[in-house]
Amino acid sequence: MDNPDLRIMVLMSAILNLLFVGLLTLSSLHSGTIRGMRHWALASLLNGLVFGLGLAIIQKTGFYWVTLIMPIAFISVVFLQLKGIKAFKEEEYSELTPWLFWGFIVIGNILLVILYPHIKIRIIFNSLCYSIVNFMCARALLIRIASPLCTAYWFTGCMFIIQSAFGFLRGVRFIFSTVNEQELFVDFHINSFILVLTTCSQLCLFFGFILMLNYRLASDLKALASTDGLTGALNRRSLEHEAGIFESLFTRTGDSLTVILLDIDHFKLLNDNYGHAMGDTVLKQLPTVAKAIIREYDCFARYGGEEFCILLPSTTESEALLIAERLRLAYAATFQAIDHQNIHSTISIGVADSAQVGLTFAALSKAADQAMYRAKQGGRNRVIGYSALGNQNRGQSVNFDS
Ligand code: GH3
Ligand code: MG
Ligand code: MG
Repeated sequence: MDNPDLRIMVLMSAILNLLFVGLLTLSSLHSGTIRGMRHWALASLLNGLVFGLGLAIIQKTGFYWVTLIMPIAFISVVFLQLKGIKAFKEEEYSELTPWLFWGFIVIGNILLVILYPHIKIRIIFNSLCYSIVNFMCARALLIRIASPLCTAYWFTGCMFIIQSAFGFLRGVRFIFSTVNEQELFVDFHINSFILVLTTCSQLCLFFGFILMLNYRLASDLKALASTDGLTGALNRRSLEHEAGIFESLFTRTGDSLTVILLDIDHFKLLNDNYGHAMGDTVLKQLPTVAKAIIREYDCFARYGGEEFCILLPSTTESEALLIAERLRLAYAATFQAIDHQNIHSTISIGVADSAQVGLTFAALSKAADQAMYRAKQGGRNRVIGYSALGNQNRGQSVNFDS
């Protein structure tokens, strides 16, 4: 098979890079608070320019200075990609180490030009540095993170590992090679092979970046749709969805599901006396207090207004009553002082389990609501289980205004 035309390949590679610049820039316009795309777009632009211009000049003229600029530019592309990854991950990190390393590479190249004019030494030096920077990118991506972002991180991270290995092998290969400077520019076969590999890995990298953005947007949208904006707790829709899952699962296993319904006492009064902003602050504290007490797999959600609901899988009413009592005491203790104002806030809690009313969320929440209503009637700031209601009170509709 004939060797591919190097110029066409260089041109194609440059065009692909420039297309990615457009794609990443357009994506960044609608990616909200997600950062990193502009760094990757800039990296792609630099890569395209170096590929297109640099290789064209070097093939035509063999200008020595291009051999100084090109490797530094290629390594800078990876540094930009690393910066984009850190920005994407919203990670606080010191910029000093990458800058020091970049400076070391630039100064190293200049010194090598002066001390050892043979290009081979610089190829080894730059290949190993290229390998290290790619490895830094891979390390930033090959981490434990929730699905589906994990897939995108690992895909992109593996591409960086391939590039890192490629740089390392190239460096090692040149340590043992005896080629002279001229041969480095006229050995078209080797160059086109390397070019195909580099273009493919670059392509996969940019696919990886787009995948990361895509999955991140999907996760953010899902989180937005399932949580309450003010308190960060799950919203009613997610609560009912989770309850549906428990219902189908426990219908088969026979496990018990318990619902805790909690309502802040005299919250309207608190709003009236201290203002809605203070009301919001009080409201936001409740999930923090509750999450410190419930288990990781319990499901805490905002039921509506100043009412919250907790689903406790594999828990009976008597077990849930203990948890609810701890929650009531913890909440009352937390709100003694906010912003130097002595605010006293309490909650009333109703508890019901599936052994008494069945596994449907509608029945469980209605029973817990009735128990909570009894807690309100009893003077508030207390916990009542559905089992404590007399038979005559069960199943009646509740009127909170009465
Ligand atoms: P009770 O002890 O009987 O529960 O009395 P309450 O005042 O807590 O109950 P009521 O249902 O009369 O009042 C609930 C109040 O909660 C009315 C509403 O303005 C307020 N509220 C609902 N959602 C929010 C919110 O997101 N922020 C603030 N600040 N107030 C809210
Ligand atoms: Mg209330
Ligand atoms: Mg209420």
